Amino acid sequence: MEIWDLHGHLSGVPGRTPDERMAQLIAFADRLGIARICVYMGMTWSYDPAPDDFRKQNDEVLQALSHWADRAFGFVYVNPKHVEASLAELDRCVRDGPMVGVKLWVARRANAPEVDAIVRRATELKAVVFQHSWIKITGNLPGESTPMDVASLAARHPDAAIICGHTGGDWEQGVRAVRAQSHVAVDLGGGDPVAGITESAVRELGAERVIYGSDVGGRSFASQLAKVIGADVAEDAKRLILAGNLKRLLAPILEAKGLSG
Ligand SMILES: [Zn+2]
Repeated sequence: MEIWDLHGHLSGVPGRTPDERMAQLIAFADRLGIARICVYMGMTWSYDPAPDDFRKQNDEVLQALSHWADRAFGFVYVNPKHVEASLAELDRCVRDGPMVGVKLWVARRANAPEVDAIVRRATELKAVVFQHSWIKITGNLPGESTPMDVASLAARHPDAAIICGHTGGDWEQGVRAVRAQSHVAVDLGGGDPVAGITESAVRELGAERVIYGSDVGGRSFASQLAKVIGADVAEDAKRLILAGNLKRLLAPILEAKGLSG
């Protein structure tokens, strides 16, 4: 079965440079038969990056992608606290560069109005929008989105391709929070490989809205693949989750860029 991974990072991967880390990611992916990996954010994490910081992180991803155009895709990391700089970065990395998606993390919640201009520009460029989300028992970070925030963003952008990161973290609530927004898909990446997440997402959303991602190097490919491979869902559903859905979401921008899927 073909496997495309929605969710990967350079952080947490061995290597001194973006090139070394990307080569390591590909070596791990090869062991598990993963054909493609989406990569976003730089060698070190920052929750609330200033424009210089997110530009540097995106440069690292561009460098990592440069030798692996046939294996990896990049999503541009931006910060809605800096709207103009984020829009310029979208243009640099997606419109004028090879990237195909946008990564929004924990600087500003998805229900904030500043996020709108970024999602609008992404949608004009046919880029997919990956928004991290979680519901933490200990309380979210001040700018950290819940899946309910992602649903409210999606309601304002019916034409956008929006992915709810980590299925909301607390996935039993997450799948229900985004269920009514039929253009929102969920990312299975991150968290422990507990039984039931994939079955629950398929039951509540339909298999075409569920996407395998690992969150590597925060998590391993193997533990996250197990959520899908070991799930009690039909083979056809696994095919969609492991590659088909991400291919369908990326098809418009890959086509626009003249890249092959
Ligand atoms: Zn991640």
